[in-house]
Amino acid sequence: MRPLPRPRSRQLPLGPLVALGAVGLAICSAGAVPAAFAADAGGGAAGATGVAAPAAAPRAAPAPPATPAAAPPAATAKGKAARGNKRPSATEKDARAFLDLVVPLVIPATTVDGDVAWTAATDVTPEHTGARAGADRTLAAVSGARVLIERCKALLAHEKDLDEVTARQLRRLLLAAAEAPGTIPEVVTKRVEAEAHQAALQDGFTFCLQGKPGGGGCARPGSANDIDNLLLKSRDLGERQRIWTASKEIGRPLKPGLVELQKLRNQVAREMGYSSFFGLQVADYGMTVKEMMALLDATLDTTRPLYEGLHCYAKNALAKRYGKPVPVTIPAHWIGNRWAQRWPGLIEEANLDSYFKGAKPETIVKSAESFYTSLGFSPLPDSFWKKSDLYPLEATAPRKKNAHASAWHVDHAEDVRSLMSVEANEQWFGTAHHELGHIYYFLSYSRPEVPLLLREGANRAFHEAVGELARLASSQTPYLHKVGVLPASVNPDPKGWLLQSALDSIVFLPFSAGTMSHFERDLYEEELPPAEWQKRWWEYVARYQGVVPPAARPDDACDACTKTHINDDPAQYYDYALAALIKFQLHDHICTKILKQDVRACDYSGQKAVGDFLRGILALGATRDWRTVIKEATGEDISPRALMAFYEPLVADLAGRNAGRDCRLGQ
Ligand SMILES: [Zn+2]
Repeated sequence: MRPLPRPRSRQLPLGPLVALGAVGLAICSAGAVPAAFAADAGGGAAGATGVAAPAAAPRAAPAPPATPAAAPPAATAKGKAARGNKRPSATEKDARAFLDLVVPLVIPATTVDGDVAWTAATDVTPEHTGARAGADRTLAAVSGARVLIERCKALLAHEKDLDEVTARQLRRLLLAAAEAPGTIPEVVTKRVEAEAHQAALQDGFTFCLQGKPGGGGCARPGSANDIDNLLLKSRDLGERQRIWTASKEIGRPLKPGLVELQKLRNQVAREMGYSSFFGLQVADYGMTVKEMMALLDATLDTTRPLYEGLHCYAKNALAKRYGKPVPVTIPAHWIGNRWAQRWPGLIEEANLDSYFKGAKPETIVKSAESFYTSLGFSPLPDSFWKKSDLYPLEATAPRKKNAHASAWHVDHAEDVRSLMSVEANEQWFGTAHHELGHIYYFLSYSRPEVPLLLREGANRAFHEAVGELARLASSQTPYLHKVGVLPASVNPDPKGWLLQSALDSIVFLPFSAGTMSHFERDLYEEELPPAEWQKRWWEYVARYQGVVPPAARPDDACDACTKTHINDDPAQYYDYALAALIKFQLHDHICTKILKQDVRACDYSGQKAVGDFLRGILALGATRDWRTVIKEATGEDISPRALMAFYEPLVADLAGRNAGRDCRLGQ
């Protein structure tokens, strides 16, 4: 994946695409949150200034020169001076000449690949899947060429003689090549085909919500959206268990493909000297697997006491709702999400869906755009509206499309698109704000000063963090009042709001940093045998999340395979955990330092200073090390500090709610 410029973030689909890193693609993890809308987010006063980086015009122009003649946008005055005084070394000149030669070959291949992958994701047919595999093979042949790998390695052997931006481009080329090394073309081809097949199976799957009496056939086919809606709303435990179990059926047909991909992905990564495919993906952060797992485990340790309080509160509330005894671990079908990755719908008063009744889905998307334009970003280009695929299809529609929300940067310039299935409810209101965060990130770094190869987020997590930041901002009461989602007379209880927010954000960490990241680490680093997948998956779900299946799960099923990212966006799920940390760090800075507002009631809209701050980060793309970017933007290294500060009032609140309860979370 990421052979080239590709920003990504969470959710999305595309197998090979992702795998090859063709387009800038942001796959987003399932959403679920906040709400409101009504357009207009009106002006406001300007606040403090943004980050160190220079906020250049967000949109930009046509394709820039391949090499960084100019200093990276990110460069500080000091950096510019240093570069300005230095004559390019012979190695630097060689590297620039090499990039001038290679980039015009690689970028068009990624653009074609992205366009074909878009068609395959929005109109799932065998022909489109085949075309996608063909485009992926072409891209793999270009980006993984042996000569390219050798030249990059030779130039990077003299890294001290290279400008930082030049070295960063060469490293990106090498990471991309590592996804499809030309030294083992037959393995690369098999992987591309296996991923295309897996994506097509997944995208084209129809769930069966109710079998025909007596078996044989499906009386009630349904979509992923149908399942999510039922798990959110049904109060009938029998129905919930049936729907939850139906949601796992997609894992069976996907298992053989994942068995094959486990081997092929590792073969590809090891060819380039990585410990495994997991190690290759982690290398994108400039970290080892050990360092990444240590960061994730430290985050889990810090947030564990808060999670235990939430778990205790939730199991008591759910037991009461369903009239059952309070369990130690929570049955998965009690929770309003297929993987218990977020726990929506627990705080009735925090549900804002009723305020969206009668709204048009189009209004939801337009209101999300208004959020950004109120910060000083330009309106979305016309091509976004023409090319995107934003609304759901009927379950019986002949066309099938990928069910995951995602954002696409097809040409590394202004061709940006989003794939969603927007309905008028709170979840899609938040998701629309999120996806447009990716889109504005794409547009912000698509400017001549940012080399095409570095038109990505500061790291993959940053892309997601920006989307999540907008989702968080869109969920705060002052904003909901301003844009008209909430009538002025309605003031949600701040305690209930904070609790529901934690049931999304904090609860997501044991799933992302715990279950998913540890399972995928084992899958690739340990080459976990397929016969053990089911057991290991549920061991992690119990250990990290305190959740158990409603009944014994069949050994031959593959419940891990039901998670889109395991198939399509493999070994990257920690992106979302890190994105949560970055999101809260940025939010904390915006609210406390720029706006001087309460982090829990903070309204960005209309604040050009917030737009300037964000643009200062977004316009950098991947021209600088992400650790430097977060440090300079917020004054802190990455950590859960801001996240824990955000939820600080919950600690006492939960202690009160849980007083006298048995809060054990495991045996
Ligand atoms: Zn996203």
